[in-house]
Amino acid sequence: MSKTTTANPPDATDADVLGSICQAIVRRQRFLLTSHARPDGDSIGSQLAMAYALEALGKQVRLVNADAAPDHYREFPGVDRIEIASSSNAEADALIVMECSDLARTGVAGLDQHFIINIDHHAGNRMYGALNWFDESAAACGEMVFDLIRALGVPLSPEIATHIYLAILTDTGSFHHSNITPRTFDICRQTVESGVNPAAMARRVFDSNSFGKLKLIGALLDAMELVDGGRLAVLYMDDRMLESSGGSYDDTDGINNFPLTVKDIQAVAFFKDAGPGDWRVSMRSKGDVDVGAIARSYGGGGHKNAAGFTVAGTLEQVRPQIIGRLVTAIGEGLKSRPEKF
Ligand code: 5GP
Ligand code: MN
Repeated sequence: MSKTTTANPPDATDADVLGSICQAIVRRQRFLLTSHARPDGDSIGSQLAMAYALEALGKQVRLVNADAAPDHYREFPGVDRIEIASSSNAEADALIVMECSDLARTGVAGLDQHFIINIDHHAGNRMYGALNWFDESAAACGEMVFDLIRALGVPLSPEIATHIYLAILTDTGSFHHSNITPRTFDICRQTVESGVNPAAMARRVFDSNSFGKLKLIGALLDAMELVDGGRLAVLYMDDRMLESSGGSYDDTDGINNFPLTVKDIQAVAFFKDAGPGDWRVSMRSKGDVDVGAIARSYGGGGHKNAAGFTVAGTLEQVRPQIIGRLVTAIGEGLKSRPEKF
């Protein structure tokens, strides 16, 4: 099917868009699914839940990502089916892009030729699809995929339930972030009724580290700096630290959550050496401290409590301004009322 110019009208409600996406799916047969480069649990979970649902409807599905899933996701059902490629000329009647604010963020070239269905919850989504469903209130893109799967009338198989739960468990920072709603737990309840074992999921995702990762955590925390009277933690990582700990770049995933376990620390900035002259900055925060807005102003993205970007320059050049922005964000965030139980 050729690309159409159908775009959802600016005043379309979520229900209208969901209905249009269902229709577009029902009428098509071959689907290509993708998500952002360096996929996280929400990318993997959303893509695979969608893949299993489409197959339950008798559709043909291929999945392509720019990068392999981090090791601790490799044993989840279907992860080995995801093709890893920096460009794709796969034939498909529609491309479904999940959890990706910008088509370029897929890191896969050649995708713009398709009829694109864009499903995402990141503020600043570029609305690059023929159909765009954007819901910033979703705690994970997996929540939206769940709604779509239900709207398509597909029952929650154990595989689908597992991937939806994976998406939510990881994208809420294991139920720490401020984007969690009753809907989040309602969806989790249904996945548990369909066979998900939350304890086993938590062990698989959070307690499957290599010894190298534990050593790397030690080295990073040892070199951690505290700024702003102990309210901001700053972590640094370069290749030397990786080599001496025996950890891998993937192992850095999730490490920036550790400093937030300290009561007074409100935000974390993790500077990772990302090749000649580039720094990748990954941020986490508590409550109303908004790191998403900082990431967007540097051309990156994310959410209020978890966001990132890449910046060019030496550490001495980029660090002061970023730290300044974080200190301001902490001051602003703490003005609002403290988080209530
Ligand atoms: P992480 O710090 O775990 O890499 O990312 C945290 C959140 O920010 C995720 O939702 C991720 O998709 C988003 N994010 C991180 N880096 C970027 C970036 O460079 N661009 C955009 N658009 N989003 C990012
Ligand atoms: Mn997400």
